[in-house]
Amino acid sequence: MPAPGTIEVHMDLRNPPPMYFVQGPVSIVTAGQLCAYCAKPSMTGLQKCSGCHRVKYCSKECQKKDWPYIHKTMCKQWKQINELNKAIPMFWPGFGPNDDRTQRQNAYKIRREQARRTCGPLSKAFELSLLIALLNSDEIKCANCWKTPFETEKYAGLKHTCSECRFAWWCSDECYSVKETFHPADVCQGIGQRAALQHLDVAVSVGRRKMLTSLQVPTLQTVKKHTPLSSLSGWDEYAAILDPSFSTRIASLAQTYAQIHGDVDKALRTMAFDHKAIPMTILATLEELYPDIATRQKLKVHLIGAGPREATIDEEMESILHFLPALKELHVAYIGPRIENVMLSAVIDSACTRPPKDAACHHCQAQGRGFFRYRHTEFYHDYVNEAAASNGAASPDLCVLINSGFSEEATATWLTTLDWLIAKGKAPILCTQFTITEAKKEQAYFDGREDVQVLTRMEKNKWGSPRDILRQDERVITDGTAGRNSHYRLVVQGKK
Ligand SMILES: [Zn+2]
Ligand SMILES: [Zn+2]
Ligand SMILES: [Zn+2]
Ligand SMILES: [Zn+2]
Ligand SMILES: [Zn+2]
Repeated sequence: MPAPGTIEVHMDLRNPPPMYFVQGPVSIVTAGQLCAYCAKPSMTGLQKCSGCHRVKYCSKECQKKDWPYIHKTMCKQWKQINELNKAIPMFWPGFGPNDDRTQRQNAYKIRREQARRTCGPLSKAFELSLLIALLNSDEIKCANCWKTPFETEKYAGLKHTCSECRFAWWCSDECYSVKETFHPADVCQGIGQRAALQHLDVAVSVGRRKMLTSLQVPTLQTVKKHTPLSSLSGWDEYAAILDPSFSTRIASLAQTYAQIHGDVDKALRTMAFDHKAIPMTILATLEELYPDIATRQKLKVHLIGAGPREATIDEEMESILHFLPALKELHVAYIGPRIENVMLSAVIDSACTRPPKDAACHHCQAQGRGFFRYRHTEFYHDYVNEAAASNGAASPDLCVLINSGFSEEATATWLTTLDWLIAKGKAPILCTQFTITEAKKEQAYFDGREDVQVLTRMEKNKWGSPRDILRQDERVITDGTAGRNSHYRLVVQGKK
């Protein structure tokens, strides 16, 4: 007998269903766009489980196989969660389409808490499955009043679906008539992009292919002549002018995945530019700060408070070397406690007593050019104190705080680092932010400090990621606008 709240899984390890190779939340499944067993995509025509109404199957066969495998247990839990939807309604008489959204958000939170309690501790298998999507509040609900199809006595689907993103629903004609309020064009586009990316993620996991590796490494050899990023209008020109081989690769991948989603080409570009956002933001800032950048031979960058996000694009950082043909050495240090358990793909000398192995591609190495990476798992202020004493590693050309958002979580350690950077650091500090709200707060923070000189005022970052990471319900924290990796940026420096 399994303990209450745990999930019994009958896993045939030799033959697990494709769906269980999928990592992470998959709201496209709860939205009924994929078969919950074999992960075959379909916009229409999938058969729903008549017990829980939460998952769909492409065939009787898939449904039959999934039942003993996991759905027998999950179905029961989904039904309990559906009951909760009735008990804590999002939509009650007098609660019209234009009513307070915060109130609705709160009701939704309570419901999610209850769902968590009902399900008990989640087993690994359950986590891989679909419940997580619900707990992340990515489920089918009216985009206007947040009513779910499970609130009614007898299950009834939502009446309208967005024909553009196919990922927004409205419960009634009344809610549909005010569609624009919470589902304007840019929100629709962001949601559609999330869905397309999920379809792509699923296809890649199910195919057990390495995660589109070819889009994640620097995609070009060193350019012949330096082209300032400031001369380009953005990612489309980047792909067309600076890196044509990259466009070719996207086009061929798009062909491979063409069956998956109508917007797979766009999704692939989004995914690829997402990986390039940090290096290109850094390069653009270096160009702005140093007019002699095209002839520089050595550059040092510190990524402060670095974590998994910075680590996943570590190879991509070599792009900076590739876009600056005169550059002989690029040194990038990843510094922060969160980098500890993250494997960077090359050996990194954290003792900092001798240069680490050159991690540059063989073309660069053949030309005697080097790309050196360092990893330090201390807080930055501790690191610089030690490093300054040993080998002068504390004097980079640029300090980078990716998605700093420090005004949100100004912990003591964080402020110690910031104070050090301003009082003792010699380098300019690039801060990037997810949202305009964060960017405004940080700008106000620096404006309020007399020891800070603002070199570039807060602005939308041309080289920020095009990947919209906010879920529909999270948009309330940004007044409905998008949240993206390094969406905004500003550059400051301590007054000397
Ligand atoms: Zn199927
Ligand atoms: Zn079911
Ligand atoms: Zn509604
Ligand atoms: Zn839409
Ligand atoms: Zn190279």
